[in-house]
Order: sequence, then structure tokens, then C-alpha cells
Amino acid sequence: MLPTSDDLQVIYGPNAAERVAKSSVLVVGAGGVGCELLKNLATAGFLRITVIDLDTIDVSNLNRQFLFRRQHVGKSKAIEAANAISKFAPDAQIRPMMANVRDNTFDVTFFRQFTLVCNALDNLEARRHVNRMCLAADVPLIESGSTGYNGQASVIAKGVECYDCVQRLPQKTYAVCTIRSTPDKPVHCIVWAKYLFDLLFGPDDDANVLKDLDLNRSPTPAQPKQNGEAQHTASAENGHSEPLDKHQNGQSPVPDSANGKHFEEQKQTDPRKRLRYSSDDTAHIFAERVAHRVFVADIEAQRAMEDLWRQRSPPILFDVTSAAKKEPVSLEKVDLLSQSVWDADHSAAVFMAVLRDIINHRVSEIGSLTFDKDDNHAMLFVAAAANLRANAYGVPLQSPFATKGIAGNIVHAIATTNAMVGGIIVLEALKIATSDGKIDKCVTTFVSQAPRGSRVKTILCPEMLTKPNPKCFVCSNGQPHVSVDLDQFTLKQFREYVLKKKLSMKEPEVYVANNILYETYHDLDEDDVEMYQSNCNKTLAKLNVENGTQLTISDFKQNLKCTIHISHTENLLLDKPIQERFVLDGNVPVPTPQADSNDHDSAEDVDADEVVEVGEERQIADGVADKSAERLGPGAREINSRERAQPDGEVANAHVPSKDRERDAGTKRPLEESNAREESQKKKARS
Ligand SMILES: [Zn+2]
Repeated sequence: MLPTSDDLQVIYGPNAAERVAKSSVLVVGAGGVGCELLKNLATAGFLRITVIDLDTIDVSNLNRQFLFRRQHVGKSKAIEAANAISKFAPDAQIRPMMANVRDNTFDVTFFRQFTLVCNALDNLEARRHVNRMCLAADVPLIESGSTGYNGQASVIAKGVECYDCVQRLPQKTYAVCTIRSTPDKPVHCIVWAKYLFDLLFGPDDDANVLKDLDLNRSPTPAQPKQNGEAQHTASAENGHSEPLDKHQNGQSPVPDSANGKHFEEQKQTDPRKRLRYSSDDTAHIFAERVAHRVFVADIEAQRAMEDLWRQRSPPILFDVTSAAKKEPVSLEKVDLLSQSVWDADHSAAVFMAVLRDIINHRVSEIGSLTFDKDDNHAMLFVAAAANLRANAYGVPLQSPFATKGIAGNIVHAIATTNAMVGGIIVLEALKIATSDGKIDKCVTTFVSQAPRGSRVKTILCPEMLTKPNPKCFVCSNGQPHVSVDLDQFTLKQFREYVLKKKLSMKEPEVYVANNILYETYHDLDEDDVEMYQSNCNKTLAKLNVENGTQLTISDFKQNLKCTIHISHTENLLLDKPIQERFVLDGNVPVPTPQADSNDHDSAEDVDADEVVEVGEERQIADGVADKSAERLGPGAREINSRERAQPDGEVANAHVPSKDRERDAGTKRPLEESNAREESQKKKARS
């Protein structure tokens, strides 16, 4: 039952309860963390909530975005979340906005109306933008993220570390259709093999992108989009209507077991369509059925989609059952740490053997297994299945050692982590709302898989907020250095690739000394527009930008101004595409799995909820740990603790008085738009 306003007065005290009720909160994102957060805010007594989300609900969201039901698929997340909250918290005024938070409508004035802003976002670009808008509007921002078992929530305001103080790397993500129909890299095949393992041996999961392979659950194979870049699950695109699963029926989401309901259902359905194991099967029959369905029937179905193969070669059929008989293997002798590549025949032999072995030795676990890289059966299965998939699609085959390295880095969203992150955001929101927007009591809280801490071990570890990075160009006086070939890079490329893409600016203006190279003022006269367009196509050298030139960059949309130092390097990075031919100071090379060195997919391009995320090693830049939620991996927390350790070796969780922080921080007030405008006009007049 929801606490009444009387209850909240008892819990918070009368004044505090009133402040909470009167606070106006902006929630950006109504996905995994957003659903938890909205529910928590409403139950904690926040009555004025605005929620922005551009997305629509996908069937793959339903397993954790609990405000949505099957009938909401295809509808606005923001609107449906608001509807769901209003039903149990009728006093709360929820204002949903189906929009992109980077839209011009959401300017500094818009942000200023809120007591606080909560980010529940899934991509870097929007996070960086909201960070800048909140700093410009002087509104506290609670930034959050979750990945697998790790998560965090922190508070950003003037005087403490902002989102841009730490170097962020885009998340690696893959469109569902690439995994399902058009793999062209080993990692795509490995992700696919993990889904197949979970499909065969794990709990029922509507979000499994291969669920159409089980013909008893999906009447016809899914048809992916022709361009191979679909970002929704195949079944949603086809509009299949499947019966509500157990979760939607409100029944217990207990994993199926060999004796459970799922298998009872399967016995009643057409055995020829069955994919998963049934007690009617022998291990041998089961293995042959899976091999045929996956490497023959499904490949035939994929080959029949001719539009997919106009620009690329279709997959080939491979008789896994026959190939496996050429050189049978003994699983005990298979070395998973071997760095020699398995060929297709050997992969086939391992594939068939491991399927039989799981049935023969672990039948009681079927329905509750999920991929674990330290489970030998799971790893043997994935190494073999991924190679057979790669073989069909002409992708290089891998050694089991390489496969394990890639498979171990793949991270899936976990509802429990989202719930914990949603909870700690509201704890910080309550501190801000009850202290007139002050952040003195706020902390960063990390959620980790295993209990940590030197005094008390806990999976929720609070740490004091840190001071801004003096090199930050957003909240401090940081002045980035950019090396580029000035004779090759045009102003347009500089704005697009360096300022917008790399530094997440929105409408950057570029000045050199007293000259305006590019400006975005809304009532420019025609001559100016023409001149700036012509400037865009000129190389930086032609615009008198030289080695050592300092460019002044202003982005009025983000109330941001900074200086960028330019250095010239002839023929810089000629082997890279033009959009990567520059070096930004502190932008150290990122170690990527060998198999995936050319991948540029990221969360900025696709919705992280509808893609598969692949973790990487963390990057340390300028001695600052990259703590972004996307980057948190095993061991991340230890590094943070070391860096923040006090002289006595304890992790600091006491609060530093905010005055000290402000004095030391050397923060710079972002330009107010009017001042900046005046300055711009003066410069223009002088030039
Ligand atoms: Zn900063």
C-alpha cells in the first residue's frame, strides 16, 4: 500500500514531507532503470514528475520494464509509464513527453523549472548533453547506470565531478538482426551461440532473439528487415501474437525444470516442431534435431530471404551430424584453453558430443541453466556452435580460448541491478529535495556483484562525491588539444567529427582570434550564411588555422565555451577513415578483442535495450578511472577504491564540506547566452 501524506510526514518530518511533495523532478528515460525510478519516486511522495523518453516499448523490454505489458508493445514508454504510475499513485502529476531530450525545446529555461533531474539513460550522447544542460541551469543531476550486476548512481552539480570530467567510451552494441540473420564477425556468432544455449537449456525468455527457432513457441520463422539493421526483435516486427507467458499472467517466474510445466506443454504440442529436450527424446535424437533445425532448416529459411543477400553472400548449409561422425571427440580431452582454431568438422563433433553430454548428465538442470563462461558444458557448446555459425556465414573460425575471452565480456541487463539503482537514485533525490537543492549529504553509490568494503562488506558502497577534474572542458577550465592534418581536415569535418561526435556538442560555433569561422545565430543574413557554408568546405589551413592556433568554441545550446589547442600533423592516421583522422588529448587507444577490432557500433547508434552489449577493458585516462556504468567491469570497484583511498587506507565515505570543494575546484560558470551573444557580435564587428 502506498504511504499516505500523513505517513510521509511521520517518516520525513512535516517540513521535509512538504518539500518532497512540492519538488519538481525530471526523469530522463523510462527504460530499465527509469521504470524502477518512477515507481520509487511516486511511492516516496514526489508528486510532480516529468518523464521524457523517445522510445516505444519493445517485446524484449517486458522482462524487466515492469510498468509495461504485452498490450503496450509499440506504444510510447513515457506515456505508458505515466499511465501505469497514475493508477497506483493517483495524487502524482506525471507529465509524459515522448521526445528526444536533445531537442531544442528542452533548453536551459526548461531545465531550470526542476528541483532536480534524474538520468536513467542508455547512451553516452544524451548523458553528456543532460550533464551540460543541468550545469548550465544550475540544477542538481542524479546520474545513473547499470550493466550486468554492476551499477551506480551519483550526483552532479557545480563544484563536484561532472559526467564529462571522466573520459567515457561508447558501449559496443550489435543490432538484433545482425545476430539473428547477418553475422559478419566472430563476436556476432558468439553472441548468437550464447542465445542458443539459453534457448535450449535456460528458462523461458521472451527476450531471447532466437526464440523463433522453437517452432512450438513461434508459429513461423521471423522475417528480419531487409537491410539487416533492424533494431527491434524479429517477432515484434512481424506482429506475432503469442500467448501471454507466465510472467505476464502473474504466475511465479520460477525457472522451468525437466518435470515442470513447460515440458508438460511441449508434450501436448507437435513433437516435430519441438526444439527443446523432452523426456520422450534420447540424447542422440535431441542432438540431431537441434543440429538440423539450427544449421540446416534455419539456414535454408535465411537463404530464402533473397533481399538479404543482394550485397553479401548467403550462408551455406553444413551437415553437422555427418561431419561429427568423421572424427568423434571425447569431451574430457577437449582443451578449452587451447589457442588453436577448431575447424568445422571438429566443432561439429564437439557440438554433438556436448548436447548429448548435457542430456546424459545434467537433465535435471535443464530449464534453469544460463550461459556461464566457467561452466565447461556451456563454454564447449558456445565455442562449437559459434564456429559452426561462423562456418556457415564465411566468418573466421576461432580457438576456444579466443571465444571464451569474447564470450566472457558480454553483458546483459539484470532487473535486480536496475531495481537497486532505482532505489539509490531516490535516496539521493530525497536528500536534495529536503535540503533546498543542496548536495552536501549526497554520495556516489556503487552496486557490485560481490560484497565489498574494508569495514563492513556490502554490495552497495557509498563514496564521497569527488572534485571536478581541472582538465574538464565542461565544468572546469580544461582546454583540449587536437592534432589533425590541417591541409586535409575541413571545418565541416572538424565540427562534425571532433566537436559534435567526439565532444558531444550540439551546435558548436568556431572562432579563431577575432574571426568567426562558423556561427549558428538564428537571424544571420544571407551573406553570412553563404560565407559560413563556404568556410565549412575549406580545409582548416585555408582558414588560417595553424600549428599552435587556439580555437574558441561556443555552443549556445549547451551554454558551453572552451578553448581548443590545435596542432598540425601531416598525413595523420591516413589508414583510418576520415572521421577518425585526429587525436584528442588524453584519447588513448582502446584495447579491443582481436575479433572485433573494426567494430564501431555503439549505444549512440542503437537503443541499448534492443542490442547486445559487449564489455571491454576499462580505460584509464589522465589518472582518472573511467567509472561510467557502461565501463564498470569486474575489478572496477577495486581500482576506484585505491584511487580514492585516504592515507589510512580506508575508502573515504565522509563528506567534504562543499565550500572547500568549490574553492579548490576552479570551476568556471558557463557563459550565459546573452553575454555570449554580445561577445559574438563584438567579434563579428571587429572581424
Ligand atoms: Zn567536468
